[in-house]
Amino acid sequence: MGSTIDFSKKLTNKERMQIPRQPMPEQDPEVRARNFQEVPLGYAEEQARMEAQRCIQCPAQPCVDGCPVSIQIPQFIKLIAEGDFAAAARKIKETNALPAICGRVCQQENQCEAVCIIGKRNPPVSIGRLERFAADYEREHELTRIPELPAPTGKKVAVIGAGPAGLAAAGELALRGHTVTIFEALHKPGGVLFYGIPEFRLPKAIVESEVNYLRQLGVEIVMDFVVGRTRTVDELFDEEGYDALFIGTGAGLPYFLGIPGENLNGVYSANEFLTRVNLMKGFRFPETDTPIPFAKRVAVFGAGNTAMDAARTARRLSMTDKVYIIYRRSRAEMPARKEEIEHGEAEAVEFVLLASPLKFLGEDGWLKGVELQRMELGPPDASGRRRPVPIPGSEFTFDIDAAIIAIGNGSNPLVLKTTLGLQINAKGQIKADPETGKTSRDRIYAGGDIVRGEATVIDAMGDGRRAARAIHEAIMRSGDPSPEN
Ligand SMILES: Cc1cc2nc3c(=O)[nH]c(=O)nc-3n(C[C@H](O)[C@H](O)[C@H](O)COP(=O)(O)OP(=O)(O)OC[C@H]3O[C@@H](n4cnc5c(N)ncnc54)[C@H](O)[C@@H]3O)c2cc1C
Ligand code: SF4
Repeated sequence: MGSTIDFSKKLTNKERMQIPRQPMPEQDPEVRARNFQEVPLGYAEEQARMEAQRCIQCPAQPCVDGCPVSIQIPQFIKLIAEGDFAAAARKIKETNALPAICGRVCQQENQCEAVCIIGKRNPPVSIGRLERFAADYEREHELTRIPELPAPTGKKVAVIGAGPAGLAAAGELALRGHTVTIFEALHKPGGVLFYGIPEFRLPKAIVESEVNYLRQLGVEIVMDFVVGRTRTVDELFDEEGYDALFIGTGAGLPYFLGIPGENLNGVYSANEFLTRVNLMKGFRFPETDTPIPFAKRVAVFGAGNTAMDAARTARRLSMTDKVYIIYRRSRAEMPARKEEIEHGEAEAVEFVLLASPLKFLGEDGWLKGVELQRMELGPPDASGRRRPVPIPGSEFTFDIDAAIIAIGNGSNPLVLKTTLGLQINAKGQIKADPETGKTSRDRIYAGGDIVRGEATVIDAMGDGRRAARAIHEAIMRSGDPSPEN
């Protein structure tokens, strides 16, 4: 695109609707399949302004309702169209403290963009890409401003877990003048943003930068602090004097296939594999002390976003020749984002569909292969997707030397077991009021994956934000903290 575009010209809605959706430049698949640098490269300024012109500022603004944290989308897009990028970033930050993250990993196609009025006839406005652009512009030009904070309230709130739910809750509470401390079990804040989502989708420097913004709002983050072990929830109340507490401990306990051979060397959960690469830089072994599988043929079991992340990460490891996604249904039932599946395909991840693992095969304790069975699709099951049905006599073996299990995660039970009176459901998730995050225990709120099961970054942030507002109202109402139930 040339630099001759006259952005001062006022466009009619018809003209706006004629502007094509601006494509996102990205690294070439052959090059990126061997590096960990970010795949999409972000909009240039003119491209961003052009895309922003596609928004007709429709009065109903359905996109705002489609956003779990209610970003004032038309307003920030208008600021981008006018060329005031830093003001656009500030507008987003009024309701979302982590815009560079959300602009990269939120599933806008199911949220704000799904309801954008332009999408009725043309591709919707690229709200996520514009959010990313504004946040990146502000950070790269060092224009981040800390908003004026209210006078301290004297109230103390503890947040357990530095994932998106905890970070959003902490940011919102800090903006209301409370003293906020996050207690995080790992040595880096961010939760799945740091240890799960790979560098090529979400650079860790961006997570660190957005977490630092929260620190600048006054949020204290205590690392290597396992609530339930270092201190219990009740000790935080009784000995540290917190007025309220938010639990955002996520769903970090991996499910396994439960088939023979799963304890062979070379079989990993996706969580362990991604943590070794993302958090512990295992691909630099022996420079780092955590190895990852130096395997030639890697199979990932599952077809959700975690499976795609694991497969694309494995693809980037120097020793790996072949990476397979092995899935028991067909492509149409794969739960991963379409974009992630296409990125995987472009990077030469191969799909073995309608195949289910029966047992892992080993030699001297090391994985050598897997026995698979062919499946066909039957009628839909409870999930609404067609049920995979085994085809008798169709077993076959497949050579692999690393297996990554990516079939989902459950709740880590530590905080739940050590906090008496906290009601949980049959899946081990905390029962909490969907509007306020209030749990069965007085002064304890919860949100994110520990309440919803595996969900999304923006849903976790929405929960954190709503709970923070409810906590604020509760602690400001009670001059003294109310007694425990
Ligand atoms: C590989 C992967 C890729 C994903 N990709 C996307 C994506 O592209 N887009 C999207 O929207 N969603 C994605 N998700 C889902 C999304 O990341 C989660 O829904 C979201 O992170 C949930 O946020 P949370 O704050 O509830 O929990 P988490 O992010 O899990 O954070 C919980 C935090 O609590 C800490 N913690 C746990 N127990 C304790 C304890 N006892 N004491 C102290 N701290 C504790 C954990 O260490 C962790 O830091 C992905 C998930 C995975 C696993
Ligand atoms: S729905 Fe689409 S066109 Fe309407 S304000 Fe939102 S982004 Fe703009």
